[in-house]
Amino acid sequence: MPGTSFVSWKDSAAAIRWNIAPFIDGRHRPSTSAELFDNINPATETALCQVSAGNMADIDEAVRVARRRFNDGCWSELPPIRRAEILMRWADLIVQHKAEIALLDSLEMGKPIQAALHDAEHLAAPYLRRWAGFANKLLGTSAPLDSRTLTFNTYEPRGVIGAITPWNFPSLVAVYKLGPALAAGNTMVLKPSELSPSSALKLAELALEAGLPEGVLNVVPGLGSTVGAALVLHPDVNMISFTGSTATGRKIMELSARSNAKPLLLECGGKSPQVVFNDVDDLDAVADATVQWVLWNQGQVCSAHTRLIVHESIKDALLEKVVSRASQRKPGDPLDEKTNFGPLASPAQRDRVKAYIQQGLEAGAAAILKGAIQETGGCYVSPTIFDRVDGGMSIVREEIFGPVLCVQSFKTEEEAITLANGTEYGLVATAWTRDMGRAKRLAHTIRAGVVFIRTSGMEGPDSGCMLSYEPQKASGFGSEVGLRGLEAYSTLKWVTFGGA
Ligand code: NAD
Repeated sequence: MPGTSFVSWKDSAAAIRWNIAPFIDGRHRPSTSAELFDNINPATETALCQVSAGNMADIDEAVRVARRRFNDGCWSELPPIRRAEILMRWADLIVQHKAEIALLDSLEMGKPIQAALHDAEHLAAPYLRRWAGFANKLLGTSAPLDSRTLTFNTYEPRGVIGAITPWNFPSLVAVYKLGPALAAGNTMVLKPSELSPSSALKLAELALEAGLPEGVLNVVPGLGSTVGAALVLHPDVNMISFTGSTATGRKIMELSARSNAKPLLLECGGKSPQVVFNDVDDLDAVADATVQWVLWNQGQVCSAHTRLIVHESIKDALLEKVVSRASQRKPGDPLDEKTNFGPLASPAQRDRVKAYIQQGLEAGAAAILKGAIQETGGCYVSPTIFDRVDGGMSIVREEIFGPVLCVQSFKTEEEAITLANGTEYGLVATAWTRDMGRAKRLAHTIRAGVVFIRTSGMEGPDSGCMLSYEPQKASGFGSEVGLRGLEAYSTLKWVTFGGA
């Protein structure tokens, strides 16, 4: 277990023996692909190790094993309460091994170590326990007919689930898929992001230690264009659960349609609005929430509130507070426990954010806070805030996925709602007003899967996973949170018994 100082985290990092090979049927085995790519540490832009690109044969083998284990019933026919016990033990092991998991995520995608520890202990483990608790609560309904007929619904696992995850919360998003899909009795093949594959492999090892039968959870690292596409195209995969960009989500819909038309669950991009009316009583709380939402994980969060939509009469006062708070976030080494703002996840991500900032400047937006961009030796980009933007600019319409906030002002409630709904995305929104009637209207008219009123919604792990939601518009469809997550990974059957 790594220690708690910068030096000991560095020592632990240096001692890692990287092994990013497919984990199939309970053991690591080499990929059959000879193509390799570098696993880059974005804090230094140096290679941590090399990873195989993976190929169709790796996926074929993982799916074959997952199918065999599904059909033999070692997991799907285990009573749900037994499955829950194993998932609970797994959650305990995640907490015990949080330092290893956090270190892998921190090295591979630049997450500050404290934030990575928090993800493992306070988000991934409690969420997994929550899904374990739902495992025996998928109740079917029965319908009254006559005294000789029994007719009812029952949920059954779908079979082999293919899961594809992004790099922004590598271990947490993996658990978001593994928790409900395994609780519902499926077997799985997980393809983690090529930028951050290691924590998913560690999670699979821990699952085995917790008692998950071999071959129920298989992990195949590699590129999206090779391993990811092969998983979506595979005819023996019963469902794909994807989290990532809307552009890739669209490709996945096409690939699914070209194979066995498997059902999809898509959690895609966002461009979330934070709408602030001039009746708010505590501008400091709003400024805190604004900065927390837009800079969390260096702005690399699907639900990041990257559009601040504020009543014109309080705009200047609020912006002064927001700029003052945001300018205090200084990028630091992710392995330093005092760091609360790390590098972006990759050189490509830094270049993407830099290009958007340039587009904003060229389009005439005013950078009231202009972040420094480190060109080499680490993918660091400090916070940038744009005022005087309009809805036609790419920085307002498109997901940047970095520490960039756009500010728009309004005079009327109608105008505020039009601005809030002014992108193709519909994931999360927050509104600040003390007028209850207006709050209800906003909750109803803002097109987003989640609407927070007078709260940042970050009160603690419990608030995040009891209830379900479904993304709207181009942010995706389907729900994996809460009890509905288990429903999404199950198929609903109608059974009728007749006779005497
Ligand atoms: P991405 O779309 O580039 O990649 C996501 C995953 O898809 C990776 O594992 C990648 O290898 C794989 N992939 C790429 N091309 C593929 C293909 N042709 N076939 C199959 N798989 C393929 O996204 P990213 O850059 O890793 O992550 C950032 C994106 O994820 C952002 O858009 C963010 O909003 C989104 N995200 C959404 C949520 C949510 O809950 N809605 C949560 C986290 C991240």
